[in-house]
Amino acid sequence: MATMKDLRGDVSTWCPGCGHFSIMAGIQKAIIELGYEPHEFAIISGIGCSGKVSEYIRSNGFHSIHGRSVPVAQGVKMGNPDLKVIASGGDGDGYGIGLGHFVHASRRNIDMSYIVMDNSIYGLTKGQTSPRSEHGFATKSASTDNKEYPVDPVSTSIINGATFVAQGYSGNIKQLSGILKRAIEHRGFSHVNIFSPCVTFNKINTYDYYKENLIFVEEPFESRDEAVKSLRENKGLVTGILFEEHRDDYQTKLGIDFDMQSLESGKMDKELLHSIQKKFE
Ligand code: SF4
Ligand code: MG
Repeated sequence: MATMKDLRGDVSTWCPGCGHFSIMAGIQKAIIELGYEPHEFAIISGIGCSGKVSEYIRSNGFHSIHGRSVPVAQGVKMGNPDLKVIASGGDGDGYGIGLGHFVHASRRNIDMSYIVMDNSIYGLTKGQTSPRSEHGFATKSASTDNKEYPVDPVSTSIINGATFVAQGYSGNIKQLSGILKRAIEHRGFSHVNIFSPCVTFNKINTYDYYKENLIFVEEPFESRDEAVKSLRENKGLVTGILFEEHRDDYQTKLGIDFDMQSLESGKMDKELLHSIQKKFE
């Protein structure tokens, strides 16, 4: 059985106190507790401080380009359905340039997890306004104040059909590791947005801010509408598993959840291959 030592990759350049440390530890803990070995999963990351997670966790991995961790992860899963696939990145990466991919992945329901380290700022490029920065927040790129309003990521994935949607906080490891285990085991597209303080550049969304403002729910809401209503009423600051439903994932619908060993050994059933080809005609 894998240990934390087995999953530890290269040295971190994250700032001391960065929320991303707890999220990485939460992913590693979830993988260990679920009984996976490093070769049984893949971490695909985007660009940003968060993007380094594919190097810091020792496993199959790919550090992709800005906003593209989700489409690359979908390709990995389609190419090797036996792998547990996790896409990870930041709010600037995933909800800015990557927003279109995120919406389409939500409705497509490929069996993978998307874990977003949300610090409401661009950290790697030293503190510009991100799609999650609060209205009025003065940053390097909005020196007086931010004139825009932030994206609500979890309402977006809920409305667009994601089958597992959760929100966590890097300062609450107990809740976070439970959420991550459920997200990784969920069959279909699971989206987890995690509040992760950037201690160097974001002096608004701090550990103290989240401690005072976050609300915790024990059980998922019964409908998408109820989950979105609660998010609207609480400024999006609701954590826990917000919504979950079970329906066929993309691979099952296409009929391509085949045995990779048969494919690799050239013994794949010709009838099955023919039926897959027909679906693409
Ligand atoms: Fe973390 Fe911010 Fe430092 Fe990046 S700049 S490592 S997000 S604290
Ligand atoms: Mg960010």
